[in-house]
Amino acid sequence: MSIATWSFPTTIVFGNGSLAKLPDHVRRVQGTRALLVCDPGVVKAGIAERVKRVLEAANVAVAVFDKVSPNPVEENVFEGATAYRQHEANVIVSVGGGAPLDAGKLIALRTTHERPLHEYDDAIGGDAHITSNVPPILTVPTTAGTGSEVGRSGVVTLKATGRKTVIFSPYLLAKAAILDPELTVSMPARITAATGFDALTHCIEAYLSLGDHPMADGIALAGIELCAKHLATAVANGADLEARGGMMKAAMMGAVAFQKGLGACHSLAHPLSSEKDMHHGLANALCLPAVMDFNNVAVPDRVERVRRVVDQNATSLSNALRALREKIGLPSGLGAEGVTKADIAKLADKAMEDACHRSNPRPCTRDDMVKLYETSL
Ligand SMILES: [Zn+2]
Repeated sequence: MSIATWSFPTTIVFGNGSLAKLPDHVRRVQGTRALLVCDPGVVKAGIAERVKRVLEAANVAVAVFDKVSPNPVEENVFEGATAYRQHEANVIVSVGGGAPLDAGKLIALRTTHERPLHEYDDAIGGDAHITSNVPPILTVPTTAGTGSEVGRSGVVTLKATGRKTVIFSPYLLAKAAILDPELTVSMPARITAATGFDALTHCIEAYLSLGDHPMADGIALAGIELCAKHLATAVANGADLEARGGMMKAAMMGAVAFQKGLGACHSLAHPLSSEKDMHHGLANALCLPAVMDFNNVAVPDRVERVRRVVDQNATSLSNALRALREKIGLPSGLGAEGVTKADIAKLADKAMEDACHRSNPRPCTRDDMVKLYETSL
């Protein structure tokens, strides 16, 4: 029997108005001067100012760094680290969707780690260079999808290679994640639908992935149940705080569960973002049904269990997912988003290079990737 490691370390504070608890956790990590990392959207929504006020009322000095790109790049990390030093900060508070939360981790890393960023690339064992002296990070998500608030990796596009590079270390974990559903009510319906489908995909792929992780499995199933119950409502009525809260929990649980692994759907989705600029959650939504039919051969019992959680009455899991996708207003295929047959060869090459499919319950060849894209058109 192989030996597994199971770890669930992040303190999570959940509830409407839980933003008010942020200063307690800043104090807990001895923070007195915070760099608030976000993007222009978070500023525009008034959320950066709200977080700043809460911290300043508790005598925490705040500087705002709002220059994070939608897909974080190296300069964001360097400029953020400079802002941290100029403010003489001792804690990072990241506020926003996946991009600011990822960037916040890498800015924290940069303040104490001087090597060129590519040397920390997880794909070449760069985590070995990451030591515990990373300043404390607190996360305040304003979307419900990536789960980056409880994740231990940050993704950054490096100048030299132009590639999305994953930097991973337990030292990049937030000391606390503040999940306040009130901060997600302004998210538009389409973003709610796409990010919510990302959360659902994380839970489903984690549950089906290879590996022995009963705790991740339980969390993944509970996350799927929350998505089935709340996603459509959160899309239809953005002000429904119960549905918003359910999706925030599901997103966080998906990211906790996928430490077990993801699968072929994420390998198909990543090139759709890098090559076709497609939203990550939407890319997952468009590929997931085909991947479920593909995986059904390898793990029929698990696929059946997920079907029952998503929709008792559906004839198959893939049909249940197609129906949910339609209900929340997402398109029914990659073709609707401008992907053509001519794109598939290159996409399939890139999907094979992606590491996620290595934990898919059924091994994938390049031919399989081609067929999965074709079926998803
Ligand atoms: Zn994802």
